[in-house]
Amino acid sequence: MKHKERGWAEPLKIEGMADDHTHILSIPSFAEQLGAPPLTPAQIWQKSREAGVEKVMEVACEEKYFEEAAKFAEENEGVFYALAIHPIEALACGGEEGYRRAFEKMKSVISSHPGKLAAVGESGMDFFHADLSTLPFQKKALMDHIALANDLDLPLQIHDHGAHKEVFSALKEGKAKKVVFHSFSGGPDFARAVCEEGWYLSFSGMVTFKNASEVQKALLSAPRGKILSETDAPSLSPAPWRGRVNAPWMLGWTLRFMGDLLNLPAGEVAKITRENAQAAYEAWR
Ligand SMILES: [Zn+2]
Repeated sequence: MKHKERGWAEPLKIEGMADDHTHILSIPSFAEQLGAPPLTPAQIWQKSREAGVEKVMEVACEEKYFEEAAKFAEENEGVFYALAIHPIEALACGGEEGYRRAFEKMKSVISSHPGKLAAVGESGMDFFHADLSTLPFQKKALMDHIALANDLDLPLQIHDHGAHKEVFSALKEGKAKKVVFHSFSGGPDFARAVCEEGWYLSFSGMVTFKNASEVQKALLSAPRGKILSETDAPSLSPAPWRGRVNAPWMLGWTLRFMGDLLNLPAGEVAKITRENAQAAYEAWR
């Protein structure tokens, strides 16, 4: 019974969903650790489509996944991709030289696979997994990604973990144009500041958590035209499946929760977030 409880969670089918931030390629190894039966990335995408997921952004923010993510997007209808060096990965590159090399590798994958590239991400800052002494290096890496996104005229997906102020001021300093705060973790005031810039808030399963009342208030206060939805799989499984392996087919649970908060049917939230994603990511139109 214990083993079964650690298996895959059930999909909640809703037509026309768009998951604007996920890591399908990381799901199989995560599933193995949790004792869920093996599925390949292609099988995970197939099952997600059957649950009503129309489009997905596969985010590769570690060098080892760059090439594979580009190919996965090219080979699968409805899959788009984003590349970046995650702030914590940037710190793990072994210093400036290792980081530079990874950044060059990223640019070369982007130039050889331009077709389904839809964003730069996730980049940003994280003072939950790293301490404040890493701020200068994290900021430098973020500034590089802002410049790259502006150069390519693509949206930048932001990872902001305990770094609202620092990330916001870096985005302003770098004159970031198109920005999506992935797995938005702020409250209503920060949401307002982000939306006033014309940027977007992407809500993950985190919004369903019992201790996420600030994020829920942010959703309630946000302009409808600025909200997106994502799974950030394999982590952040929405309630009532916390602790299980996450996958894009779980997005319906988050949309239903968002709908209950907003007093809208889940299908309507799917439509709103899909249309907003199409507005945010030109490649999705
Ligand atoms: Zn992510």
